[in-house]
Amino acid sequence: MELRYLSNKELSVALEALVKHERATSVQVLEHLVEVERRELFLQDGYGSLFSYCRKKLLYSEPAANRRICSARALAKFPELRCLLIEGELSLTTLSLVSRQLNDENKDQILASIRGKSRSEVEEILAETRPQTKTVERVRQVVVAQVTSAAPTAVLRAAKIPAQTLSLFSALQPSPENVSGALMVEQAPPPAPQKRYALSFSVDEKTFAELEEVRALLSSSLPKGVSLEEALKVLLGQYLAQHSPARRQARRLKVADKRSSSIGEPSPKANPAMGEEKKIIPTSRHIPAKIRDEVFCRDRGSCSFVGPDGVRCGSRHNLQLDHIVPFAVGGAHDAENLHVTCSRHNRHLAKLYFGEEHMQKFLHG
Ligand SMILES: [Zn+2]
Repeated sequence: MELRYLSNKELSVALEALVKHERATSVQVLEHLVEVERRELFLQDGYGSLFSYCRKKLLYSEPAANRRICSARALAKFPELRCLLIEGELSLTTLSLVSRQLNDENKDQILASIRGKSRSEVEEILAETRPQTKTVERVRQVVVAQVTSAAPTAVLRAAKIPAQTLSLFSALQPSPENVSGALMVEQAPPPAPQKRYALSFSVDEKTFAELEEVRALLSSSLPKGVSLEEALKVLLGQYLAQHSPARRQARRLKVADKRSSSIGEPSPKANPAMGEEKKIIPTSRHIPAKIRDEVFCRDRGSCSFVGPDGVRCGSRHNLQLDHIVPFAVGGAHDAENLHVTCSRHNRHLAKLYFGEEHMQKFLHG
């Protein structure tokens, strides 16, 4: 029946039933998430975490994924939450706010204080019981249009334009009359907006003092003033120069290029096979830095695990080098036998190779 023909009473009753059904379905979603996490199902599908699975496969927004994951983990620990969620005494939002604090000792007290409360009421309760000493880290993208003082430039779009036409063109003002035949005059597109990010976080006293010291040291080379952004750029540049596999690799290639040009040999870039080295027979677990960097660059500094549907994990956290033929059975430390994986996919691949039982023995001694 069409909704507009329902009486007010019928409409209200139907809606209440639907909302109850919605809450029950939400709880079922949480229970399914608990089971997906227990089986680590997301790993075999190519996702590095339950969060990534919720975002990319289930298409939840970041806050929605967070709320569900926090609530699912709380529900796994405390099954009595199920009734409170179904009855609407707790919402995913309020449960997720307190989920990390809940333990066997305090759960009755915390749940009694937040039952039936709204998000802002729960936040107030939390602020009273747990004064915040740290600002929540936030990264917000802000788009800033590029500012340019130059007049709009005209560009020529013609295959072959004689020199005199070009000199003539420079005297012309772009106007519809000037546009004819092969000579097209068009306004250059406005510069693309430049992405910028607003960061906010708090630091402790020592870190702040060190930051001020860095800014003071930089002030002699940056007399116009050292903004936090300038200081951060210098610090990041120095860290990456030392630790970025791509930059180390580029330096190696430059040195090899210089060396080969000084002795008149072809550059290793021109003949990649020249850079190849003999297979390294592993005698220890140590993988030479050159090989590590080569593999990190090839795998774009992210987990290269690909699920059966072609989903590439791509996580950039807790990355490790994984031997395709494991080191334990004589796998070599060469680039063909190595790939970058996140720690979870590394463990997942080891389980697939050695079996769950062997890995449990390995993990628990
Ligand atoms: Zn991964």
